[in-house]
Amino acid sequence: MLILMGAGLLPALILTIVLLHNYESRMTSAEVNRMTAQVGLLSGEIITSGYLENGEAEGINAELTSVADAYSGRIMVTDSSLKIVKDTYGMYEGRIFLWENAVSAMNGANMTYYDRDNSCLVLTAPIVSKSEEEMPVHGVLLMTESTDGLEASMDYILAVALVGLLIVVLAVFVGAVFLSGKLVEPMHLVALAIDGLEKNNETEICIDDCLETEEISNSFNHYHERMRFLDNSRQEFVSNVSHELKTPLASIKVLADSINGMGENAPIEMYREFMGDITSEIDRETAIINNLLSLVRMDKSKADLNITVVNINELLEMLLKRLEPLAAKQEVELVMESFRPVTAEVDEVKFSLAIMNLIENAIKYNNAGGWVHVSLNSDHQYCYIRVEDNGRGISEEALEHIFERFYREDKSHSREISGTGLGLSITKDAIVLHHGEIRVSSIPDEGTVFDVRIPLKYIAEEGKRK
Ligand code: ATP
Ligand code: MG
Repeated sequence: MLILMGAGLLPALILTIVLLHNYESRMTSAEVNRMTAQVGLLSGEIITSGYLENGEAEGINAELTSVADAYSGRIMVTDSSLKIVKDTYGMYEGRIFLWENAVSAMNGANMTYYDRDNSCLVLTAPIVSKSEEEMPVHGVLLMTESTDGLEASMDYILAVALVGLLIVVLAVFVGAVFLSGKLVEPMHLVALAIDGLEKNNETEICIDDCLETEEISNSFNHYHERMRFLDNSRQEFVSNVSHELKTPLASIKVLADSINGMGENAPIEMYREFMGDITSEIDRETAIINNLLSLVRMDKSKADLNITVVNINELLEMLLKRLEPLAAKQEVELVMESFRPVTAEVDEVKFSLAIMNLIENAIKYNNAGGWVHVSLNSDHQYCYIRVEDNGRGISEEALEHIFERFYREDKSHSREISGTGLGLSITKDAIVLHHGEIRVSSIPDEGTVFDVRIPLKYIAEEGKRK
């Protein structure tokens, strides 16, 4: 409101001051022109009448007095030694007129002075004879004119301007109150709508006013929707985690109770079998917790990836070597094919984990006598890794979900193959952290292909924007 008032009032104030100032200077310069013409006439007459030489010319004296009266002012005439020979007030005759403007006039210059204290304009002009060639200065003529009339009209204009200004102040005030209210109103509406969101249990705010507020409310709705989604997935994740952690514990309890309930004569093999089951349940629990920790680390370390230049060929060979025993156990042939030497900027630990999960799955969900092909290629921009197997494949419905946390295709069937359902979500998180892409295609009972693409150079700024 204050800004609007300032914007309305300041120009009006400046305009008034400029107008008054201009009016005053125009009026005084018009008066000065009139006086100059009059002084010119008088000095001509003074010269031709020889007034300064013989000091006697009744006609001139009378004329000087009547002109001074007509201007409500005073006229003084000096000779060339600045001695006052005529003062229409009759006060200073015979004295020497020492004033800088009079001296300048003796040097041939017309001088004007606005004496505001005494409300008069003072003009001093040389008395020169234009007929003589050198135009000698015979004396000085001083003429004053009362500016009472000018000041009265200035006062009147000022009064009118002040009334006008007052009207402008009022109009601007009313306008500013109205406009600022109008401007702030939509913000209030948005604030009220946001406040009411929780109370009325609504999912979005709705403001259709075709103003910026509609844009703000749309952005807010978008953001709110995202927060709700995140909140829901967090809740779902927590309940999944609890469930997954509880299952092995429940099995361990059942097994332990069974051992307790076995009589003293129970064969030692029974104990061994039950203890073996307990160990594998504990292994499962440990695997879930380890995977959860990996996931949390992925989430946390978005800002501090430990990026180094890594030889991808060596990294894949090392991974294959590590998984060879598992492949041998499952009777799966593990082959690596590398088209060229590739180095890329990656976080070695997280990237290895991602690829390791893919190869491990390809071995785990395979059949005895099957194969797993891992191939590596690159162009000038990207590194491409393909993990292909001829295992059991993934059904079309399951394909949409395999990257979700805790998702395992056909849980009852996959019971025999241990797993937590977190491997692929860890893989996806790691690849997204590297600004890469992962694609999967699969035909049930024929095999699965995972294609990974990551940039050879890590793009830090893009990461920050995300
Ligand atoms: P973890 O990796 O923690 O041991 P997991 O292997 O069950 O557990 P993911 O790696 O996330 O979990 O895989 C999810 C599901 O996707 C698996 O349960 C499996 O059903 C399916 N899947 C993944 N890879 C393959 C594959 N190569 N062939 C067939 N099915 C697969
Ligand atoms: Mg897995």
